[in-house]
Amino acid sequence: MASVPESLSAIQEALADNSLSLVELVEHYIKKISENKDLNAFNHIYSESALKQARDIQEKLSSGEAGKLVGLVIGIKDNIAYKDHPLTASSKILADFKSVYNSCVVERLLEEDAIIIGNLNCDEFAMGSTNETSFYGPVSNPHNKDCVPGGSSGGSAAAVSRGLCLAALGTDTGGSVRQPAAYCGVVGLKPSYGRISRYGVIAYASSFDQVGIFSKNIDDCCSILSVIAGKDENDATSSSETVPDYNSVINKQQKYTVAYLKDCIEHEKVDGEIKSAFNDLKKSIENTGHIVNNTNFEHTEFLVPSYYILTTAEASSNLARYDGIHYGHRSKNAKDLESTYTLSRTEGFGSEVKRRIMLGTFVLSSGYYDAYFTKAQKARRVIKEATDKILDKHDFIMLPTTTDTAFKIGEKIDDPVKMYLSDIFTVQANLAGIPAISIPLFTHSNGMPIGVQIMSKKFNEADLLNFSQMLLKYY
Ligand code: GLN
Repeated sequence: MASVPESLSAIQEALADNSLSLVELVEHYIKKISENKDLNAFNHIYSESALKQARDIQEKLSSGEAGKLVGLVIGIKDNIAYKDHPLTASSKILADFKSVYNSCVVERLLEEDAIIIGNLNCDEFAMGSTNETSFYGPVSNPHNKDCVPGGSSGGSAAAVSRGLCLAALGTDTGGSVRQPAAYCGVVGLKPSYGRISRYGVIAYASSFDQVGIFSKNIDDCCSILSVIAGKDENDATSSSETVPDYNSVINKQQKYTVAYLKDCIEHEKVDGEIKSAFNDLKKSIENTGHIVNNTNFEHTEFLVPSYYILTTAEASSNLARYDGIHYGHRSKNAKDLESTYTLSRTEGFGSEVKRRIMLGTFVLSSGYYDAYFTKAQKARRVIKEATDKILDKHDFIMLPTTTDTAFKIGEKIDDPVKMYLSDIFTVQANLAGIPAISIPLFTHSNGMPIGVQIMSKKFNEADLLNFSQMLLKYY
């Protein structure tokens, strides 16, 4: 077998000139996955259904009927429904559950002949920043096996980085696509809220959740986004805003105005090398004719508290359905209705999920509702308006994706406040509903990747991707 290229267009060329077949392609990834089992990136591998897809699509290819994503071998985070395949959210409570229907994103991928190779490890119910809360155990960072890959979509980021699949889907409620992308050195896009249907995606915090894309390059991200974005009847919050052909809007030469979030870049918690990389980058961007303004965002300290009050509130309600009756794990010791609920949930959920359900229930309880929940909703509005105000005058906001590079497994897991605070730079985009991307532009002297985060106006993924392409090509 010829060596397998690392971009969709190159794979499609190889398929077209018959130097590669789809079965060979799938076999290549299956082999890579088994050689890299120690990463623990996959929860389930779908060798059988992926090979069957490969054979079926190869026939379509010969008759010239293959879809746009032919040759795309993709992994999906284990919170995205694929009919007749396991769907666990990396939780014991769903350990034996199989989905009975396809999510909208999976349906759209399959329609365009993408091949789904397996589902990927993540933090339990997507709650976490390190992939350490998974029932299936932690994932290792492909650049250093003792480090976390980031989370919650840690398996997705690690798999793409190591080449176990060409691309992957994740979900991003407060950074779960961008932060692991930064830690593993790949591209991670969180589109605008409403850009992609959430139908068939296990809900964490419904007014924040968005499906996102991991890839090695911007072109592949564009190909996938063009297929999975757009209105879906099954998700009332999906937008009917038109979906451009994203591949045709990148590689445009355009001069942009960028807001550099000075107070974030200079933040005491930001690693010195990340700071200096950003200062150098600013000069290079200016030298190529873009305008970069130092800007301050006055509400940084309210980002993490607002995010954690609102998301835990939504989670406590979304997770009420896992009760030992509707789905999943039911305690063997249950004797009546009350003990079925209590014991099944006690046995089925891990400690981080329990912590968030309790926090969420607390901030929604009658005595505290106004003090916490209502106040956080007001703060969200203020944060959104202040963010939009910056974006009225600028095409983009730029800041680091994270304050540091990937840290050691076990380093923060016992200190939830420290862990939550590490989401400081990613939650803004979800609070405001705007698109954001992390691109791997630098490498730290410790050998780990550094992610650059760019945010843009709602539904302006096109310019976001165009600018990201420029940065990856020229800087
Ligand atoms: N780390 C954040 C949290 O734990 C983000 C998770 C996510 O985006 N799913 O809530």
